[in-house]
Amino acid sequence: MVEKQEQFKVQVKDLHKSYDGVHEVIKGASLDVAPSEVVCIIGPSGSGKSTFLRCINKLEDFQDGHIYLDGIDLADPKVDINKMREKIGMVFQHFNLFPNMTVLENITLAPTQLGKEDKQTAIAEAHKYLKLVNMDDKADVKPSTLSGGQQQRVAIARALAMKPEVMLFDEPTSALDPEMVGDVLKVMQNLAKEGMTMIVVTHEMGFAKQVADKVAFFHGGVIQEIGTPEQIFDHPQKEETKSFLDKVL
Ligand code: ADP
Ligand code: MG
Repeated sequence: MVEKQEQFKVQVKDLHKSYDGVHEVIKGASLDVAPSEVVCIIGPSGSGKSTFLRCINKLEDFQDGHIYLDGIDLADPKVDINKMREKIGMVFQHFNLFPNMTVLENITLAPTQLGKEDKQTAIAEAHKYLKLVNMDDKADVKPSTLSGGQQQRVAIARALAMKPEVMLFDEPTSALDPEMVGDVLKVMQNLAKEGMTMIVVTHEMGFAKQVADKVAFFHGGVIQEIGTPEQIFDHPQKEETKSFLDKVL
């Protein structure tokens, strides 16, 4: 029997991770994310933000701690990790769409290959998600004909097509030309409004202020400080938070 303890959509408890077995990159990070909550993670480069997200998606193993998704412990060896991974959508800085497939095929591939949906259903669902990201008119083109911002919106639709329980975003707008950033953030904001649980690593402080329920300041492999956008941006408590915000705001 897999032990279950619900309440949070995602719960990270005292996570430790090193790549080389010696130097810990994540040094006991904890985070609770309630259903439909949006948590933005900010913090300096190299502080472990990407590693933290990749552990939640089990793209990386971790040495110690627990990550619960809907109360199910990802560190429990009895848990089917591939099934769990399907429940966690991830969007990266680089969109990694399959270049030889159309936009529509990019989106229907995983749901049909994993046997979640027959082809007809997958196509109908794909159009639904493409409409949501404002890209339905590009369903039949190849990704290379699209701008970076358009490709990123397709990548979001592709992740949504798996009907995830939670969406992780790792600096989704960092590689985009400035004029493309707004459209992608708008899509993410709409997703948040619809009640998607989201963990978003971002440098877009405006987005964090406007959309986040909680902002977590990541520093030195732990979450140093977490609070409402107002608490973190207007009344930071820790020196590290203050000095980081001084540099980026
Ligand atoms: P951030 O996303 O906050 O910039 P990362 O999670 O990418 O931070 O990196 C945290 C630390 O882990 C850095 O010191 C980085 O060099 C190291 N690191 C990241 N990925 C790997 C890897 N695949 N192998 C070894 N070290 C890594
Ligand atoms: Mg990173």
